[in-house]
Amino acid sequence: MTAPITDGDARLPGLEPVELVVEDLTVHYGGVQAVRGISFVVGAGESVGIIGANGAGKTSTLRGILGLIPRRAQTLTLGGEDLRRVAASQMVRRGVGYVPEGRHIFAGLPVEKNLLLGAYTRRWRGCGDQLAEVYELFPVLQEMRTRLAGALSGGQQQMLAIGRALMAQPRLLVLDEPSMGLSPLLVNDIVSVLQRLHATGLSILLVEQNAKLTFATTTRCFVMDQGRIVKTGLASQLRDDPEVRRIYLGL
Ligand code: ATP
Repeated sequence: MTAPITDGDARLPGLEPVELVVEDLTVHYGGVQAVRGISFVVGAGESVGIIGANGAGKTSTLRGILGLIPRRAQTLTLGGEDLRRVAASQMVRRGVGYVPEGRHIFAGLPVEKNLLLGAYTRRWRGCGDQLAEVYELFPVLQEMRTRLAGALSGGQQQMLAIGRALMAQPRLLVLDEPSMGLSPLLVNDIVSVLQRLHATGLSILLVEQNAKLTFATTTRCFVMDQGRIVKTGLASQLRDDPEVRRIYLGL
């Protein structure tokens, strides 16, 4: 029996938090250098945010880590395991869950089928427990389990995209703009989901334009500009930083 996800310090069963170490990561698109040798760590069980203006290199950083685009790095490890030669298609098996920008759910398939597809790397036994945990986290998905995913609202589709990534029991969850296109009310739902996931001990790396969401769900953040990390700090420090407030919060 596995314990359900609960608030507090509960952990996803059988999973130990792991550390992501990125050292000197670079990403090029032809002659364009999108990421210019950045280094950072997501500590085991830590939630880290990347903020920055359009074109700063945030998405390229995530896609580079996942191996979805050609990249170079001095170090790229998850829980000590070198990811540099791991194909993007194998990242899920290595414990990296990815919620891409724009959700990419299977609109023509029922909600539950979408979730089960997220568990394709796992043995069938145990999927039921994981499904129950995802439903506990997102009761609305259980209510709509037989509906076609394309018939869900934008916020529900985002929950589905996160739920699907969780089905593979990731050790690191990487999210790209989960608030994209959502109303402020639905953004609040995403905030509470991310806070809850952080409380389970999952390591999280989040890219967001919505700095308020980022500061509410992460412990540490860094600011990217033109492919470089130009500022790092505790979320609480950056939230009060006058420059960050002016540029990213419009205050
Ligand atoms: P946004 O918030 O707008 O998504 P971002 O911070 O995620 O921006 P990236 O999408 O990583 O930024 O883009 C970083 C740089 O790389 C930009 O100059 C962008 O024009 C360039 N770039 C991104 N994707 C490609 C691509 N497929 N081909 C060529 N250049 C690209």
